[in-house]
Amino acid sequence: MESARKDLKLMIRLQETYDRIADAIREQRTPPDDVRELQEENLRRQEELDEMEQMVETKNAELAQVTKREEESRLELEHFQKQKALVTNEREFTAVINEIDFATRALNEAGARHGELKDEIDALTADIASRRDARPDEEASHREVAQRWDARKQELTEAIHRLATETRQTEEKLQPANRSRFLRLLKNKQGKAMAPVVEGSCSLCHFELRPHLQQRVRRAQEIITCEHCHRILYLPELAGEED
Ligand SMILES: [Zn+2]
Repeated sequence: MESARKDLKLMIRLQETYDRIADAIREQRTPPDDVRELQEENLRRQEELDEMEQMVETKNAELAQVTKREEESRLELEHFQKQKALVTNEREFTAVINEIDFATRALNEAGARHGELKDEIDALTADIASRRDARPDEEASHREVAQRWDARKQELTEAIHRLATETRQTEEKLQPANRSRFLRLLKNKQGKAMAPVVEGSCSLCHFELRPHLQQRVRRAQEIITCEHCHRILYLPELAGEED
């Protein structure tokens, strides 16, 4: 009878330790607002840079095509200029002049586009470089935020290890049958093996205990489980009771 009471108190303590581990894990997985903002900002900045680099690539591809078109127009122009010297009548002359006009226009258009593209690429490249250079300035305050969060995560990891050792020590003190019962419940009931009874009901599933069962829980001389959720029941007073 006494051993059941002792085990109940150990299990309450064990549940508290597992709750603290769960809290620490939850905190580790939830970066504070300033850290999250920082992560989002870095991501946004990286996306902008990626987008700009993609634009440079697209413009370079167009530049290659424009350069090729310029080259072709230049060759055509040379060809028709030679032809001009060889014409024998006015009709041929007019045709050659038209071709020369056409090739000149094409060459000028390609040349203008070439200049535009070069300016745009230069501007983008300079912008990318200055954005990359701007990072170290801004980063002093950011680094502090990141370092504080890293230190906190490290603290939590250490706390989790400490608490895990504590759970093993407490588990060793339990009778094997109660230990495996507790661990099975912990696993199957989302980390909650124990349920305090509050105002005659299981506080986790809100199932109302029959008076007779309430009395047995109050006596704490045996392990009583909730008829509905099967968690181990106890009265909150028992948690504060001295050993
Ligand atoms: Zn219940």
